Amino acid sequence: MSDSSFFRVAVPAPLYGVFDYLAPGETQLETCSPGVRVVVPFGRGERCGVLLAVVEESDVPRSRLKRVVRVLDEAPLFQQEDLALLRWAAQYYLHPLGEVISTALPVRLRKGERPVTSKRSGWRLTTEGDAVRSETLHRAPRQLAVLHAIREAPGGLSREELYEQCDECRDVLRRLEKKGWVEPCEIEPVAEVSGFSATRNMAPELNPMQQAAVDEIQRGLSHFAVYLLDGVTGSGKTEVYLSLIEQVIAQGLQVLVLVPEIGLTPQLLRRFRRRLAVPLSLMHSGLSDTQREAAWHEARLGRGRVVLGTRSALYTPMPELGLIIVDEEHDLSFKQQDGFRYSARDMAVIRGQRGNCPVVLGSATPSLESMNNALSGRYQHLKLPLRAGGAQSPDMDLIDVRSVRLEAGLSPTLMRMLKEQLDSGNQVLLFLNRRGYAPVVTCHDCGWISVCRRCDARMTLHMGSQLLWCHHCGSQRRLEPKCPECGGDQLKPMGQGTERLEEVLRAHFPEAGIARIDRDTTRRKGSLESLLGEIREGKYSLLIGTQMLAKGHHFPNVTLAAILDVDQGLFGADYRAAERMAQLIIQVAGRAGRAEKRGRVVIQTRHPDHPLLHTLIREGYDAFATAALDERREAELPPFSYQALLRSEATKADAAQRFLDEALSLAREQGDNKVEYWGPVPAPMERRAGRYRAHLLLQAADRGRLQKLLSAWVPRLQGLKSARQVRWSIDVDPQEVF
Ligand code: ADP
Ligand code: ZN
Ligand code: ZN
Repeated sequence: MSDSSFFRVAVPAPLYGVFDYLAPGETQLETCSPGVRVVVPFGRGERCGVLLAVVEESDVPRSRLKRVVRVLDEAPLFQQEDLALLRWAAQYYLHPLGEVISTALPVRLRKGERPVTSKRSGWRLTTEGDAVRSETLHRAPRQLAVLHAIREAPGGLSREELYEQCDECRDVLRRLEKKGWVEPCEIEPVAEVSGFSATRNMAPELNPMQQAAVDEIQRGLSHFAVYLLDGVTGSGKTEVYLSLIEQVIAQGLQVLVLVPEIGLTPQLLRRFRRRLAVPLSLMHSGLSDTQREAAWHEARLGRGRVVLGTRSALYTPMPELGLIIVDEEHDLSFKQQDGFRYSARDMAVIRGQRGNCPVVLGSATPSLESMNNALSGRYQHLKLPLRAGGAQSPDMDLIDVRSVRLEAGLSPTLMRMLKEQLDSGNQVLLFLNRRGYAPVVTCHDCGWISVCRRCDARMTLHMGSQLLWCHHCGSQRRLEPKCPECGGDQLKPMGQGTERLEEVLRAHFPEAGIARIDRDTTRRKGSLESLLGEIREGKYSLLIGTQMLAKGHHFPNVTLAAILDVDQGLFGADYRAAERMAQLIIQVAGRAGRAEKRGRVVIQTRHPDHPLLHTLIREGYDAFATAALDERREAELPPFSYQALLRSEATKADAAQRFLDEALSLAREQGDNKVEYWGPVPAPMERRAGRYRAHLLLQAADRGRLQKLLSAWVPRLQGLKSARQVRWSIDVDPQEVF
């Protein structure tokens, strides 16, 4: 490297391409390998980018280049293979590399701050505390539990881990500290290793099907292959993961485990911690930026052996990666829906391929994409068709609600079943994917309806807070007693949400304990956890909930699960609607009858003859998936074709459209007649948050051809004149059209 070298830098900016700079003052040059952060002049300010390469030539004349202001890191944060993966993602998803790399960094590092050390604050026992005997505390079980947990961790226990094990226990700690039994301390990352071996739980003996799956994957541990672990809820997939993880870490390699946003529950964490003899590096939105960054460094430096996180953990540098697991691989939260739009599930497969390590995709309801890959033999299909521990799968039935009078969305048949279950002391789960009191309010006198001023959507009534609330843009309005149009006082809520359902059921079953779980009742931190705990303790017999209740949690005493309305799903605007509906039904069904009690699932519908619904109920998810895939093949839809969606939005409707028109002609000029164009058309909800939205769909039978067109076309879009009046984005393999 000489003074005449140039720094090629990925700068976070909505511009395609990388930027060259003059190397900084000579003293720093030695330490500059690709992967360090650098501060560079950009536009009128400075930005924090990442050095990609030191090169001897630049296309830009020397005189026009600016100089790197500062090098921020002594050692690279990304290795070459990390940068190569990010470059691959940027190319595939047609997103500017600088932004892709920036997204892969922990938040503080993006802003140019100094890396945090991985020490964390926590608690340890004092000598007096160590001598305390359990009997002393038999009247203070919480203090005892906390004391026990800390005693199990000789080097001290970090606050996060303590809260995971004993829930939020600040008050208890204060009391113990006053007695002089515990004291605050700093925890070294290695302390956790020794700390957890003491409380380790033994693995159950795997059943033959679990063992077969483990054996199969174990044979392929040294190289890239994708396994679809297709196992019903409760079949023991998590045990299969844990067994594999133990083997991989025993070989001295690292493991990356991705779970959906809603899936990283304290229950799952406890299970992982108690079983694995190594510290977990956690990455999810419930942690502070500093905590997440500490975990990131631990993984990057090879100290963190198991990374457990949501979508964004996918890009964590892991020098000794030996296995990637994606749990609930069908879950939509693996797809980032704004900014850098990527699928963490798909990128996990790419990462495994590039790093030559196996990838396990697990689900009770695999996505049709993965199912198709399994059926075609590209992925190995491993099935766990039975629940572990002998629990039986629930019966499923449809309730025909055509020409039936519903009360708050409940048919008389369902009402009767509810009563029966409650009378016999069982738990019942009611699923309704609509929060609030009612999805719309109308005026009986003049026909006014509660529409949002900024969206083509209705405002939902929230009775508790007396608000009309748009769930699309967040606008809120006080609920006035009189019609804003005619002044009449005959305002009527129409349809139901979970809030209303709760009200009606309370009137019907005044004796029953009712828990409602949706975003409104769980806004406060920790409130979801305490509700779930109370449900497990049997405090409630009626559980009402949205999506939140359908995923991940175990309710062993639920004997009846009812889905109040599936019809929205059956006829949604999106061709994926049926797939999502089927996944939801099976996920809800997975909540029922997990232990000794056999469960039952009932589904209210006005379309009891819908063929896919029938197949699902009578023959199960695999049969449904096969039938749905046939339909997709017939219609040449993904996964039998490949799509990209160009979205645009603007304050004026014609501007959004004009940009797409120009974009379309530009694509046509490039002339690949094997790529089809649909649109431009207005988005299903054309106006949202005051902006008009439209899109253009591209589709091709061949992924390579679509990619080729996109990579030539998308970078030119920012040069279109009409681009200045719109916000636009490209979405490769879109999951939702909205
Ligand atoms: P999944 O991840 O497929 O939903 P889990 O791994 O959570 O399934 O297992 C469901 C339940 O069955 C858990 O309570 C788990 O402890 C138990 N279990 C799993 N495998 C076994 C086994 N081989 N023997 C006994 N119990 C098991
Ligand atoms: Zn009116
Ligand atoms: Zn709105």
